[in-house]
Amino acid sequence: MKTVKEGYVLDSTAIIQGVDPNSLKRESFTIRELLDEIGEIGKRWIRIKTAMMLGKLVIREPSAGGMEKVERTAKEYGLYDKLSKPDIKILALGYELHSEEDYDIEIITDDYDIQNTAAILNLKYISIGMKKIRKTYLYVKYCPACKRKYSGYTGTICPVCGYRLIGMKKVIKDNTY
Ligand SMILES: [Zn+2]
Repeated sequence: MKTVKEGYVLDSTAIIQGVDPNSLKRESFTIRELLDEIGEIGKRWIRIKTAMMLGKLVIREPSAGGMEKVERTAKEYGLYDKLSKPDIKILALGYELHSEEDYDIEIITDDYDIQNTAAILNLKYISIGMKKIRKTYLYVKYCPACKRKYSGYTGTICPVCGYRLIGMKKVIKDNTY
């Protein structure tokens, strides 16, 4: 029988919203940059430091392969410019644990661009914020070559340059508060 490995990947929005890795049942993972983002001071830092000492939180650098996969996918879907380097690292870490190490992994984040990219990569995510998400999406097609976007177009080939189009979600209304 195979043991199921379960884990969370935490980004800085999760920590800022008050997620405490010490109180989570699963093992948590994050990247070195998170420590810089939250600052080594105050209650948050004490929680993080304690979790690291207890082995509840593991700091890990994602592999080059994981980074490459996330960067390529984000570029294909026009999300690359919306993601910071730490965002890409968080996603790469999730991807790597899930696809290479068989973890049942969930990324805890309130960042919509991380959530959107996670969904494209078939990674699970949890939003823990107090904000209510009320977004309306429109499915559009996107040409990876000329970057044109088409909504309501039923073809699969870009009429301008002949490239195969990619389906993507576009937010048309954002009532998040
Ligand atoms: Zn095109």
